[in-house]
Amino acid sequence: MLDGMDWSRVDWKTELANNVVTIDQLKDYIRLDAEEEAQLREVARLHPINIPRYYLSLIDWNDPHDPIRKMCLPSVDELVVAGAMGATTNDPYGDDKHDMGNGVLHKYDYSALVVVTECCAMHCRHCFRRRIVGKPNGHAPRDFSGALRYIEAHPKINNVILSGGDPMMLSTAALRVMLEGLAAIDHVDFVRIGTRTPVTYPLRLFDDELMSLLREFGERKALYVPTHFNHAREITPVAAEAVRRLRMCGLTVNNQAVLLRGVNDTPDDIVNLMNGLLAIGVNPYYLYQCMPVARVRHHFQIPLKRGVEIVDAARARLNGYGKRFKYIIGHDVGKLEICGMIDGKIVLKQIHARIGHPEQASRIILQDIDDHAGWVEV
Ligand code: SF4
Repeated sequence: MLDGMDWSRVDWKTELANNVVTIDQLKDYIRLDAEEEAQLREVARLHPINIPRYYLSLIDWNDPHDPIRKMCLPSVDELVVAGAMGATTNDPYGDDKHDMGNGVLHKYDYSALVVVTECCAMHCRHCFRRRIVGKPNGHAPRDFSGALRYIEAHPKINNVILSGGDPMMLSTAALRVMLEGLAAIDHVDFVRIGTRTPVTYPLRLFDDELMSLLREFGERKALYVPTHFNHAREITPVAAEAVRRLRMCGLTVNNQAVLLRGVNDTPDDIVNLMNGLLAIGVNPYYLYQCMPVARVRHHFQIPLKRGVEIVDAARARLNGYGKRFKYIIGHDVGKLEICGMIDGKIVLKQIHARIGHPEQASRIILQDIDDHAGWVEV
């Protein structure tokens, strides 16, 4: 029913009201027996459903294993807190340990991440911040000035990441206040706005007022957009146009994908994704190993050895730009690049170390792992 819709002309604020947010609405798209329906109601209570009609329009409803469907529709697998892949947590990246108040997470000397909202255009089922998303709980600052004061008082911070949730869900006026505050801090060299709107809600980026703001800010400080395409089927003409609009404002768009079982866990998937990104001017940057997130790990994580095989096979077919991405573990201790396997051991290189642990920066770690291990303890 949405075929032929011109999403570039749809008002992003009013369209949010058409998102599918209940099981009853979902039943317009899928058939559920009574038991499935009861289970999915429980899943939705734990991690609310929120799917834009644009993203729903990408699903192949004839394929029960459709990768787009897996990323947005609730699954009964989410009732499993921790399964065969191992133990889980709600905070795999150790965010809470680095919470400085007012939404500021300060894990590395040079970067501050600010959780500016708990809202997203879509609630991705694999989200590692699902403990925050869609559940207002005080993580986001009521007043950004507190975050600005913290950043001002820490001159080692040379870049700030606006994150969430999805900052692009804020009004353009609210974003303006944040960006102007950051522009006034001399030691902030550049700002990143982490957003999945190019993928899940590109219509947000057809707002000319937003584009003017981004262009203006870009004349004062460099501005980057880390985004999150996971599958080549997400790279639609309208997504490509949204990315083009960001680039025309002078922004650099980098992609942080997650390796997900049943979504992008073949070399073909990774090759098509990276080549597709390059074709629309997005830089492949990270490919994350799926974190041990409660209700996510069990059905989305694949073993590390398998991940290395997929990445190695994909890299062999990618040109230099396509293979620039790092295969990454976003660990509590800092980011670890997965370099490969040798003699049954996984080879890791730490690329960021937490504040107070400079000795860990750039260390190489060799660890025995079995065929099923999906995570490492270091
Ligand atoms: S857009 Fe990002 S933060 Fe929001 S639900 Fe999806 S993965 Fe999580």
